[in-house]
Amino acid sequence: MCYKRARFTMEFFIELKVCEHIKGQCQKVLIKELLKIKKAYIISTGTEITSGAIVDTNGAFLARNLTEEGFKVIGCSVVGDDKDYMHKLFVKTLQEADLIVASGGLGPTLDDVTKHALCQALDMELVLDEKEEEKIKRYFQKRERSMPDINIRQAMFPAGAQLLDNNFGTASGMYLLLPEQMVVLLPGPPRELKPMFEQELLPVLRKKFNLQEKKIIRRTVKVFGPGESQVETMLQPLIATAKGYSFAFLADEGEVHIKINLEEEFIAQGDVLLNKAVSDIEDIMGDSVFGYEEDTLISRVSFLLKEKRMMLSVAESCTGGLLAKMLTDHAGSSDFFWGSLVVYNNDAKKKLLGVNEKTLLEKGAVSEEVAEEMAVNIRQSAGTDIALSVTGIAGPGGAAAGKSVGLVFIGCADDEGCLVKKMNFSANRDFNRLFSAKTALDILRRRLEHKA
Ligand code: ATP
Ligand code: MG
Repeated sequence: MCYKRARFTMEFFIELKVCEHIKGQCQKVLIKELLKIKKAYIISTGTEITSGAIVDTNGAFLARNLTEEGFKVIGCSVVGDDKDYMHKLFVKTLQEADLIVASGGLGPTLDDVTKHALCQALDMELVLDEKEEEKIKRYFQKRERSMPDINIRQAMFPAGAQLLDNNFGTASGMYLLLPEQMVVLLPGPPRELKPMFEQELLPVLRKKFNLQEKKIIRRTVKVFGPGESQVETMLQPLIATAKGYSFAFLADEGEVHIKINLEEEFIAQGDVLLNKAVSDIEDIMGDSVFGYEEDTLISRVSFLLKEKRMMLSVAESCTGGLLAKMLTDHAGSSDFFWGSLVVYNNDAKKKLLGVNEKTLLEKGAVSEEVAEEMAVNIRQSAGTDIALSVTGIAGPGGAAAGKSVGLVFIGCADDEGCLVKKMNFSANRDFNRLFSAKTALDILRRRLEHKA
């Protein structure tokens, strides 16, 4: 039953002064309808994607954001610039989804056919939007060019469509409110699609689908350290006894995101159930838990350093500055980050950091002892509260007797001493560097969490 119908039925019964019991039943139907999880379908268009020339990042962006807003994304399809096939896909998805979001093909060229295909599926006409025509003409005038005739296609929309402003390009997006559904068309270029989605479309979606109240239907707990299957095994007792919610696991570059999804019928007890599930996970996973929802290792480390008013210095060998990059990706890091010394070869380790030549010769640059000297020395010379160091064999070359590619030592020095952790990553250089940097952040996080 659709929302409008449910409301009509309820008003009708109230009007007729039908007994309270029936009124109550109607209210329940209405509430259930409002809380029902809405189904979304994502369509990415473009022969560039179906031919493999570009990767469909719009689909992933939309899937992530719609899921986070509380939609159940029932499918994502990629279709070439083929009006007939697109038309079939619109027909099919219109039978299944409450919301359809398509991207691409809103431009002026003949291969931009998304609006035509949608009109065909809905048996509608494309009509000229004069305001839009003016806007496009002004765009060309500003650049002292006359508008090519073909650009008029960008000002044609299905009758009744509401336009979405494009602040980063010429093709406006649009949405169409159907009796029980909504169809949205967004431009293909990600730099145009993302701001349009966030600034123009989201407020409309939230209003139309009453999304604010649905935010509580899922929670995410993030852990670093144990792998996905290990996390799943550890949580098995919870998974087996969960009532009212289910678990999903997402492995993301060394992190595991544990998603707790509430079942529709339990929405009324949502907060209580989800809080209990989160605290059960915390009990089992202990200090592997580094955050929730939007948290990242960096955001957690930054928070802890600021909270404890501590300064961090870093000495990097195999990560070549990656830790420094991660720590400075967001503005304001000078409040807690002193800086990083990239000491890549042995000479730099000796001259810039004072690492002992004897240690380098006897133990090798990739050793527990060198990692310790690096952390202790950078902390001392920078005068910071805490320091991190990383030295390892990123690969593909560099393996030596007893030391294989992926061997990494990470040091963490503070006023209580220096802890060095030995890791054995993989044979892939990028992987080794990224995991070294993230593991270093995690070691730092754990150390900070335990400080008073
Ligand atoms: P334009 O007016 O630029 O033609 P459009 O809405 O017609 O915009 P398309 O022609 O489908 O969009 O795509 C334009 C460009 O946007 C593509 O060349 C590609 O670089 C990028 N793009 C399109 N779709 C996607 C997608 N799904 N994921 C990532 N990039 C995309
Ligand atoms: Mg195009």
